[in-house]
Amino acid sequence: MLAAAGIREGWLEAVRQVPSPNCNARPTGEVSALVLHSISLPPGRFGGADIERLFTNCLDPQAHPYFAAIAGLRVSAHVLIRRDGECTQFVSFDERAWHAGRSRWFDPHSGCERGELNDFSIGIELEGDEISPYREAQYRALARVIMALCEHYPALTPGRITGHAHIAPLRKTDPGPAFDWAFLRRCMLDCM
Ligand SMILES: [Zn+2]
Repeated sequence: MLAAAGIREGWLEAVRQVPSPNCNARPTGEVSALVLHSISLPPGRFGGADIERLFTNCLDPQAHPYFAAIAGLRVSAHVLIRRDGECTQFVSFDERAWHAGRSRWFDPHSGCERGELNDFSIGIELEGDEISPYREAQYRALARVIMALCEHYPALTPGRITGHAHIAPLRKTDPGPAFDWAFLRRCMLDCM
C-alpha cells in the first residue's frame, strides 16, 4: 500500500520543483481532465537535463540537430516522471501548462466535444520513446500522482484520463503503443 502524495497550493508535496515560465491562468479555474504524454530528448535517449531545459526555455539549439527545431517552442507540462519514477513539477496544477496544443476531446460528463484541453487539464509527461516499455516505477509514481490529484480536484476522476494521441490524433502519437493502460489501472487500485 502506497500513500498518495499531498498537494499544497497546486504543488505536490515532497516533489522537486523546477518552475517553468510557460504557463498562465486557467480561464475558469476548472481542473477536470488529465492528459498523458511521453517525451525523450534527444528522441530515444533517456536521462540528462534536456527535458527540463526545454520546459524552462534553456535548451541549447546547437547541442543536438533535433534541438534546433524545438528550442524556440514555448511548452511545458505540470509533471515529468523519469524512467526511475522520480517526479519533477514545472507548473502549479492551478495554472494552465502548455502541453496539449490544438486538441479535441469527447467529454463523457457533458456529452459534448470540447477543445482547448490546456484550459482544464493537467499534463503529465512520462520519459519514454513510445516504443520501449515504460518502467513499473513510472506506473507506480503516476498512479500515486493521479490518486492525489483526484482527491484534491473532485471534478477529475479516473474516467477523465486520456492520452495526447487521443485528443490530437492527426498530430500526436504519445504516450504510444508501449503505454499499458490496464497496468496503470491496476497500480491505481493498489494505491486505494
Ligand atoms: Zn504529448
